[in-house]
This record gives sequence, C-alpha cells and structure tokens, in this order.
Amino acid sequence: MRIAVLHLVHETVTFLPNETTVDDFIYEGSPAKGEALLQIGPKSYMGGFVKVAREHHDVELTGIESPLEPKTGIGSGWVTNEAYELFVGKMIEELKAQGPFDGVFLALHGAMAVTGVARPEAELARRVREVIGPCAYIAATFDPHGNEDEAFLQAADLAFTVKYYPHYDAYLQGTRAARTLIRAIKGEYKPTHASRKVPLITPTVIQWTGGPAWMSLINRALTWEALEPDLYINIFFGFPWADVPDAGMFVQVTTNGDPELAAEVVEEMSRFIWRKKDELISSTTIVSIPEAVAAAAQASKEGSFPVVIADHSDRSGNATWILAEVQRQGASDTLFATITDARTLDQVQERKLAVGDPFDFAVGGLVDPSAGVPVNIRGSILHVPKLRGRDGGRLPFVVVGFGNNNALIVSRYLTQVKPNFELAAR
Ligand SMILES: [Zn+2]
Repeated sequence: MRIAVLHLVHETVTFLPNETTVDDFIYEGSPAKGEALLQIGPKSYMGGFVKVAREHHDVELTGIESPLEPKTGIGSGWVTNEAYELFVGKMIEELKAQGPFDGVFLALHGAMAVTGVARPEAELARRVREVIGPCAYIAATFDPHGNEDEAFLQAADLAFTVKYYPHYDAYLQGTRAARTLIRAIKGEYKPTHASRKVPLITPTVIQWTGGPAWMSLINRALTWEALEPDLYINIFFGFPWADVPDAGMFVQVTTNGDPELAAEVVEEMSRFIWRKKDELISSTTIVSIPEAVAAAAQASKEGSFPVVIADHSDRSGNATWILAEVQRQGASDTLFATITDARTLDQVQERKLAVGDPFDFAVGGLVDPSAGVPVNIRGSILHVPKLRGRDGGRLPFVVVGFGNNNALIVSRYLTQVKPNFELAAR
C-alpha cells in the first residue's frame, strides 16, 4: 500500500493587511519532504497518522514536498494566488512523478483563504483526485476552525476534525485518519457521508469547549461515535475572521457504507446545535477594557493570580488599547504577550541593544483604526533571544521591563500565545 503525505496549512485572517506570500512559506526546514515532513509535529495530526500507518508493515509512506506553516504564523492575510499555485503545482507534479498511490493523506487546517480560489482545501483535493484516479482514497485532518462545506468530501473520502478547543486531540484524529484510510484501501471501510451547514458564525473567543455550552456539542458527537461503530462526526466551529463563501458552522458525518445513518445523525446534530444557539452565543462574558484592567488589578491585590486579560480580537498584537489602559491605571506585575512591532525590533537590532540597555520607543498600533495608536514605553531590555535559522537574520522578539514591574514582549509577527499542555497537565 503506497500512501502519499501532503501538508498545506494556514488559518487566514482576510482582514489583515499583509498578504501571505511565497517568501513567507520558505525558511530553514520549509518546504519539507520525505522523512522530514513525516516528522513534523510528533504530537499532532502528522505524528498520529505516521504512528498508526507504520504499525502496518505493508504500508509505505511518501512525504511529498510541502510548505509548512508560513513564518508569519497565524498573523497574515490572504494567501497569494502565486503562492498557492506554486506549492500546489509542485505537489501535483511530484505526486505524478512518484505515483501510483493507493491513498493520500492531506494534513490541512481548513481556514486557508487564497486570492482567486474560493475553496482552497477542496480545490487541492480535486487536483489530487485527478492525479490518483477514482479508485484511490483521500483522507484529511482539519482544525475545528476550518471553514468548509460540501465541496471537500465531494473530492475526498475521509475527513477528521479536532473536537476540542483548545485542540487537545490532534494526534488522536491523525491516528483515526490513518486507520480508516488503510481500512478503506483494503476494502473494509466504504466512506459514505452526509453534511449540513448550520447558519451560525461565532467569534472564536466564545468557543471554549471547557464550558458547558460548547462541551455539550462535543459530548453529543462523542455519544454518537460511541453508539455507532465506524461513525465519525466533525463539527467545524468555523473561522469568523475570514471573509469566504463557506465561513461558519458545518457538520459532517461519515459512516461505513450506511448513508441513511449518516443523514439521520447529521440532521440530529444540526438540530441540536440550532436549539443550543442562544447558549452557545452567550457562553462567555465580555467586559470593557477599563473594567478588565481594574478587575485584574483588584484580583492581584487580593492575591488571586495569575489573572489573564484576553484580547478577544483573536489576533492580538497590533492593538495597544490594553497596554495604554494598564499605563493609565498604573497597574503593576503585568506581562504583555505580545505587541507586534517589526520597526522597533529592526531599530533594537540596528543599535545592537543588549540586556540592561535602556528602551525608549513608541510601540504597536497604527495598522488600522482598530489597533489604536503607538504607546510610549520607557524601560530597559530584559531579554534578547539568540537568532535561529528560521529567523532569517531578523530579531523575532525582545522582552522589555517597564513601569511597576511590568514586562512587554515585542514580536515581529502577530503571535498567538498558546498554553503548554504538558506543563498544564502537570
Ligand atoms: Zn483552531
């Protein structure tokens, strides 16, 4: 059994002014192919897929040259048509050159937005199908923030979407993708689907599956999967920061040769979500910035810490409203992660500023009216990182101490601060 492995991932905020270009996908380690591609993310989709595939001694994996996540991370807008066509074009050529294949694994996200390509993941699956033919199988993994519709499974056979937010189960979904793809190739699993768009677009800040409203959707899906062997449910929460035709919630159900069961379950799940919509939408209380900063300062005074002030714009970093408010209220012991300001970092680098040197810059803001204006920060440098290969000679961030024991991380790109799950579990 020969299975090709491809990777194409981006969560595109189409409202950001900076495009995601060819250059953003090219850095030390990216594009990756062969064993290097198979080794990215040992605890993520890829790791789960490779682990299970390699438990089958009759399976051979081929890592097709693929770009990894762009160096802008999640902090860039529309992927240019040039970038998409260049990398997808190379993938298709390599698939042709190295084929034939019995199956293809696509490691995807689902919220990539490409200029001139309405449904980039479905379009990739369609082009892969043209190469591998109607008898081979295509399986993919997705992030629940993907924006998808019927188009993907019209071209592909299997999709496995992470259920939890934060995304604890990426590795698990990778293992399911491998196991089910291999069963399909062997003729033991005949994928049949039903899917449904649920007319809801929700901000990511309310989608936490640790709370009762969103967890109830996951429990419902897990209950169906527990009841019905070989049934898989994907709930795409959708990614609202992309202005694309398939934005919003979407439910997919896949069964083993039982289209009636798939149709029944997708109907039941969509109705359940719709009944819950008021609860889902009001699952998180959102307060004003002055209230949030004052509440955090009070909690800290009472010894209740750490306190997290979450900027629910989702791509925090450009906006300086919270930074300005902390200064205005004279708050202490606050860590800002992060304010994005490439120009300031270039100057820090140019002047060769080191730990202990004074820092006096106006940082952040100015990207658009929602980002506010730059805020003057006077303090000293606490940390300058050593440059890594993928930084391309440019300082990725610097840590500055200021005010009453406050610290600010200035980053080159918009950065999503993620928990360290292993540390959190301990
Ligand atoms: Zn996500």
